[in-house]
Amino acid sequence: MGILASDRLLEVDSENVSYYVLLSTIYANTEKWEGGIKVRLLVRDRGLRKTPGWSSVVVGSKVEVVYTGNQTHPKYIEIYKELKVLSAKMKSIGYVPDYSFVYQDVEEDEKEQILNSHSERLSIAFGIISTLSGSPVRIFKNLRVCGDCHNATKYISIISEREIIVRD
Ligand code: ZN
Repeated sequence: MGILASDRLLEVDSENVSYYVLLSTIYANTEKWEGGIKVRLLVRDRGLRKTPGWSSVVVGSKVEVVYTGNQTHPKYIEIYKELKVLSAKMKSIGYVPDYSFVYQDVEEDEKEQILNSHSERLSIAFGIISTLSGSPVRIFKNLRVCGDCHNATKYISIISEREIIVRD
């Protein structure tokens, strides 16, 4: 898909965030990173503040999109199980959740769940359970990766013995 066709896609319904998600996925699939940057700038310039957080992860020849807090994902039970196992291991080697990245006024255990439901974390877990052991996990995040996920990624990389590449 060329830039021109993509621009038309956005003109159809420029307020609909899902088109931007679709476009970003297409660009990521075809490794057109500049196109992805352009789409994200459009989202920002058009003030689409309700952009849901989402990440994509490369699984085989496909790019899969995972939304923050997504519980309708076909593999969500496996994803959350994997995150639970990872969280326990992360804590055993020194990871401490940083709740300053949680803006909701809730109890601590809920804050931990919120961090665990960030799209990049779901994508990493999904990537780990869906790709061959030892292969790198490639993530693309539409918004800036929060500091806690950045930190958690380092721990998950050590535990899973995977190279985890996150672009935002
Ligand atoms: Zn996060």
